[in-house]
Amino acid sequence: TLRLAAQRREVEQLLAPLRLSHADLERVQVLMRREMELGLGRESNANSSVRMLPTYVCSTPDGTERGEFLALDLGGTNFRVLVVRVAQDGIHMASEIYVIPTTVMQGTGEALFDHIIECIMDFQLKQNLMDQILPLGFTFSFPCQQLGLDKAVLLSWTKGFSASGCVGQDVVHLLREAAQRKQHLGLKVVAVVNDTVGTMMSCGYEDPKCEIGLIVGTGTNACYMEEMENVGTVEGEQGRMCINMEWGAFGDNGCLDDFFTNFDRLVDEKTINMGKQRFEKLISGMYLGEIVRHVLLALVEKQVLFRGKPCPKLQTRDIFQTKFLSTIETDGLALQKVRAILQDLDLQASFEDSILVQEVCQTVSLRAAQLCAAGLAAVVEKMRENRGLARLSVTVGVDGTLYKMHPHFSQNLQKMLRDLAPNCTVTLLQSEDGSGKGAALVAAVAWREA
Ligand code: ADP
Repeated sequence: TLRLAAQRREVEQLLAPLRLSHADLERVQVLMRREMELGLGRESNANSSVRMLPTYVCSTPDGTERGEFLALDLGGTNFRVLVVRVAQDGIHMASEIYVIPTTVMQGTGEALFDHIIECIMDFQLKQNLMDQILPLGFTFSFPCQQLGLDKAVLLSWTKGFSASGCVGQDVVHLLREAAQRKQHLGLKVVAVVNDTVGTMMSCGYEDPKCEIGLIVGTGTNACYMEEMENVGTVEGEQGRMCINMEWGAFGDNGCLDDFFTNFDRLVDEKTINMGKQRFEKLISGMYLGEIVRHVLLALVEKQVLFRGKPCPKLQTRDIFQTKFLSTIETDGLALQKVRAILQDLDLQASFEDSILVQEVCQTVSLRAAQLCAAGLAAVVEKMRENRGLARLSVTVGVDGTLYKMHPHFSQNLQKMLRDLAPNCTVTLLQSEDGSGKGAALVAAVAWREA
């Protein structure tokens, strides 16, 4: 038992930096709020890590939107073309997934946009929409400086895209040029939408209180409705505008350095964007498995896991997938299942090993949910203050596989949010196909208001 107690101390010491206190999370909330204010400010936001990009989306759906729209979804897991009919009895859609070969993703901008137009033409042909001119909403999930609803300058490629000649260009213009090259004259692009905005809009169609969008998938990001008078980067003082926070980059200016652990630094060092998207790297699906892997390696090193036996396979990057966290943390799971997952990695786990791996997963995913809650708490509290309310009741539209599939992420998020923003009643609503539906709804709202 003396040895067990010593082992326990080792484990606790190793995991301690990953456990955030209430005070820690309050500090993250305060920091996020400060970065938001900085990003919104008139002074070119040199020192803010949160970009706070205007979207030119000035209202959420009211349920009276009608019409038929085309939508493009680029920047998620798949490239898709959709037709969306917004009718009295709800939203109907049909879609097709198209492959973008890596050579096209990383070739020239012309080839990329030509390819997109070809896909649209193929889709229209298949759906018998060739001679109709439908308004098109473009979900383009890359950071953009938006200059209008249909004008978005690409700031940087992410997620494996690197097509040349696009950064610094208006992507709608690139799309229209490609349409002309391809003699596709019936294309009417009316809106460019970020996936967070699409998520907010699609949930907003179901619930008028939905004024926040959140993604927790490969990456993480959020948007919300801000008062125009607070948006220093756009003319005009009336009404509200949706702000794409690009909150994945929170902390890139060093303001979160106290919260990064050695495990986080090891993960960051091996990414293609080292030092960037620091908040995202604590929270999203692309990284949680890697963080766990590094913790497990450290526990082996300390001889408190797998009897300290070296685990060559555990040295392989990305071998511990984030979906394993979801399985391992499932309530009432037979420990045999944990063992089976580890067995696949050539790890012979004892009963105690399985329990410890479970604890590591819980610690890493809990921290992710709590950090996400701290970010959201800053958003809802700002909205409440903006509106001069004692209490705010608001809905968040949420999308992303990690959020949807993890057994405890949403409860942990909700619980921490109640603690950090006690004056707000926040409902989390899962979005179904937000990026497709959302782009059509932005087009529809623009249409309604035109
Ligand atoms: P995107 O954000 O690109 O649209 P998704 O929302 O599909 O993509 O999220 C993909 C991410 O979800 C991947 O990083 C993957 O690790 C993670 N993921 C996949 N399955 C699960 C699961 N069962 N539990 C938790 N995370 C998962």
